[in-house]
Amino acid sequence: MVKDTNFQSRFPQRFQIKEELLCVIAERGGSIKIQDRATGWSIYEELANRLNLSDEARTRMRDSKKPEKKPELAWENEVRWCRTELGSAGLIEKDKVNGQGIWTLTNLGRESVENKIENKIENTITNQKFSFPEEVPPDTVSFHEGSVTRVLVNRYERNPIARQQCINYYGKKCFVCGFEFARVYGTVAEDLIHVHHLKALSEIAEEYEVDPIADLRPVCPNCHAVLHLRFPPYSIEEVQGFLHQEP
Ligand SMILES: [Zn+2]
Ligand SMILES: [Zn+2]
Repeated sequence: MVKDTNFQSRFPQRFQIKEELLCVIAERGGSIKIQDRATGWSIYEELANRLNLSDEARTRMRDSKKPEKKPELAWENEVRWCRTELGSAGLIEKDKVNGQGIWTLTNLGRESVENKIENKIENTITNQKFSFPEEVPPDTVSFHEGSVTRVLVNRYERNPIARQQCINYYGKKCFVCGFEFARVYGTVAEDLIHVHHLKALSEIAEEYEVDPIADLRPVCPNCHAVLHLRFPPYSIEEVQGFLHQEP
């Protein structure tokens, strides 16, 4: 049998699965049954839907070294790993009475979901100078993996010289929607424009130097927040495609 080395690439990164898993538990009142036989609901399916998993990734079997082991879906195994990691991080715990099948947010887990949601909302609605949608408060206990990559993106988008060169070249008009602070609020607000970094993190080498014209684009804070609604971010073209859609 040929081993498929692209196997992992079909799943989202673990921190994304964990983040989504915490959100699902929070939305369902802080506690979930892994499978709810009464309604047919399953956490595996819910997460697969929310993370847009391909059919192939959903149905792939785990290739087990031990032939006597019951065959299982690779996706379910992956989610179980995430659950275990959240458990050892102290963010969720098994139900003490009903055991394995029920998972509940701990106080720490609850806090971290609330921080996450608040942070997202705040960064989306405030237009504070240099507030970036992917900014993560330094005291956030969880999502460490995610925070690290977000900080990395921040660094390029924050670099004041690169930012200035990008703006000198492209101007202060949002590359996605055309919004211009100066036209609406006057020059007092013109520096509220953000710059967005286009390159995928996977393409960035360690001693990477940002190219302000090739890699950065001016975007307004609203479009910037939308670009970062997904990780990796949506492309400029994708967000332009969302514009002016009837709700
Ligand atoms: Zn915009
Ligand atoms: Zn950005």
